[in-house]
Amino acid sequence: MDGARVDGRAADQLRPFKITNDYLMYPAGSVLVEAGNTKVICTACVEEKTAKHLTGTGQGWVTAEYGMLPGSTGSRKARDASRGKVDGRSTEIQRLIGRSLRSVVDMDKLGERTIRIDCDVIQADGGTRTASVTGAFVAMVEAMKKMKEQGLIGEIPVRSFVSAVSVGKAGGRALLDLCYEEDSQAQVDMNVIMTDRGEYIEVQGTGEQSPFSEQELMELLALAKKGCGELHRLQAEIIGDLTPAEEKRVTVVAATQNKHKIEEISAITGEFGMDIVSRRDAGVPDFEVVEDGDTFEYNSEKKAREIMEVCQKITIADDSGLMVDALDGAPGVYSARFAGDGCDDEANNDKLLELLRDVPMEKRTAKFVSVITMVFPGGETLTARGECPGHVAFERRGDNGFGYDPLFVPEGYEQSFAELSGPEKNKISHRARALQKLRELLTERSGR
Ligand code: IMP
Repeated sequence: MDGARVDGRAADQLRPFKITNDYLMYPAGSVLVEAGNTKVICTACVEEKTAKHLTGTGQGWVTAEYGMLPGSTGSRKARDASRGKVDGRSTEIQRLIGRSLRSVVDMDKLGERTIRIDCDVIQADGGTRTASVTGAFVAMVEAMKKMKEQGLIGEIPVRSFVSAVSVGKAGGRALLDLCYEEDSQAQVDMNVIMTDRGEYIEVQGTGEQSPFSEQELMELLALAKKGCGELHRLQAEIIGDLTPAEEKRVTVVAATQNKHKIEEISAITGEFGMDIVSRRDAGVPDFEVVEDGDTFEYNSEKKAREIMEVCQKITIADDSGLMVDALDGAPGVYSARFAGDGCDDEANNDKLLELLRDVPMEKRTAKFVSVITMVFPGGETLTARGECPGHVAFERRGDNGFGYDPLFVPEGYEQSFAELSGPEKNKISHRARALQKLRELLTERSGR
């Protein structure tokens, strides 16, 4: 076996690997997997009942069966049914498939139901168990996607991709993805099941004809890692990206220069995967965006768009203000400069207290409004508005926050915004509500 491989492949080359999705009509997930001449049909069916030992725990279960059709090998293989029992090899393989998949499924999120995987080998030319694992994973995720569409589960409860490949030593060389002829002559034979995070789920290695060294083991594992990586990419072409939304971090430039607003936005968006950077850190030269519109929406979009056009990065802007009913919605978009251009928070609060001096408690109703705009390079724009109702107090209270916080008491609270802690304000504020809506728009946009 020195030199070329039987099918002319390089030592580290997979056989042509093909996954045909939606192969059958009835199962929730079904694929045909072809690894060279090895062909396996993998299906996933969902049962609204968990395994007996998990009933009442809220957890689901994933289990697998494996079999070879009589015509799948050179000499006819008798059916298990006619022999009256499942052979030992099939039992071992189906357990391997089941535990490989279970190791990446969040059973709590799956809920009390069972996903039954069936792997039926229709043609065997080596590597049927590894092709089964790789295909079963795709069939399982496809079934989960249907469950999500039907509203049975909120998210795909899978942490990582799973694929498997065989490696071995034949003719003194370390080879990836052995076909039957190579496998039958191998001195060392190994099946490796891995996640796309580079973790091992199972390593089955046997010195068939002679023991093997640690160095040889490492060499084989490196080959397996390469093979599994390629298989994960093929799986991803069908099932897409499975990274949970909370793990996908994206950097967003804040158009606003108000450090309090940036702090609040960062604290809220940090939890849903957004890292906020300042205009300066994004390399945007210092210039002022003129807020000349008379709506929050207009000013917010103008700020985000002008900054995005300079830095060509995803940009977020907040335009916000306080609308007081007794003042017909003033100061509104003029909240920052209520007491005149260049004025500070003190002057604004003084003016507000003065204008409302004789207004009784029941007429001091007001709301904070925040309009958050996200603009993507290319121009796509998402807009989200959040409001927080409350009233204007008779005097300043509290030292936290900024702007009109010491005078604003949110509905249902005794304390002003400035008396609440940052996290408390961030649960109910106009800004938090707008950002929550933005999050929903982003989720819709990414189709997850
Ligand atoms: P903008 O930069 O034009 O959006 O100015 C918004 C102004 O509204 C701020 O300067 C504050 O005076 C006021 N404002 C907006 N949001 C808040 C808040 O959360 N607390 C207190 N004042 C706020």
